[in-house]
Amino acid sequence: MTKPDDSSLDPEDLRAVEERARKLLDRAAAWDRFPVPLDDILAAAEVRVAPTSMFDAAAIIAYVRSKAADAGVRIKSAVAKVFGLYDAAESLIHIDDKVAKSKQTFLTLHETAHHDMPTHRKLFRFFQDCEKTLAPEIADQFEREANNFARYALFKGDTYARYAADCAFEIKTPMNLAKKFGASVYASAREFARTNHRACVVYILEPIQFVNGHGAEAVVRRIEPSPSFIMQFGRPTDAKITLSHVLGPVMPIGRKMTRPVSLLIRDRNGVPHECVAEAFDTKHNVLILLYPINALTASTILLPPGFGAAVA
Ligand SMILES: [Zn+2]
Repeated sequence: MTKPDDSSLDPEDLRAVEERARKLLDRAAAWDRFPVPLDDILAAAEVRVAPTSMFDAAAIIAYVRSKAADAGVRIKSAVAKVFGLYDAAESLIHIDDKVAKSKQTFLTLHETAHHDMPTHRKLFRFFQDCEKTLAPEIADQFEREANNFARYALFKGDTYARYAADCAFEIKTPMNLAKKFGASVYASAREFARTNHRACVVYILEPIQFVNGHGAEAVVRRIEPSPSFIMQFGRPTDAKITLSHVLGPVMPIGRKMTRPVSLLIRDRNGVPHECVAEAFDTKHNVLILLYPINALTASTILLPPGFGAAVA
């Protein structure tokens, strides 16, 4: 089962979150600087990041729990491994420096959101973040707000979409833009698909496994279709890509990349479309970009040369 993505907020809440993030980018003069200038963002938000050597989630949580006993301090609890914390009373962010750099960037922006959104720090003394709170399917309103804030700040509103529109339509584009924006390839690929005006879908797969008797296969981590892809083809729900799957030949096995492969995908009406798919193995994940290039319909009429001129 692929994970449902219900990261969205009510339009009104989203507008409020993006307005805060937009103002922060203004104050930090961050719009035209790549990747996002974190130090200036932090300074503009008036929040600090603790020295990374101090990161000890268990100790910090124990400290805060001891405080919680007296002053009615509220703590948001997390169950998984904590790698980001925000302490409202100290205006201090703690980030685990053992996680990947791009993840640290997103985490820092996420914790900055907890600081910058007035309701968050008013209601909670302490936010603890883990894989679960950063995931798109998190149900908690504040975590969704922080994730949307971080996404807006990282990709600077529609700046990412505008850059992508000026680049070649190929899998290398979200990879190159990941570097430019300081995002993970995973986040960049998702942003590429979800903001693209063209029909396209990005599959993000777990590393390819070799299963006895089945050959190579990969579990689908997430599928991110563009809005026009959903309209035309519906939302794909594949859980696993095997060699017999239509995307099987696209899996980069024993190589880093699969050059564009032509294949047929049926739309919601069962009409086959000629599509192109290409793949890249980032070592952590396999990305596949798939997009239609042509409709092969029974009703396609081949007009004789000069037809346009004859009816004009
Ligand atoms: Zn959080």
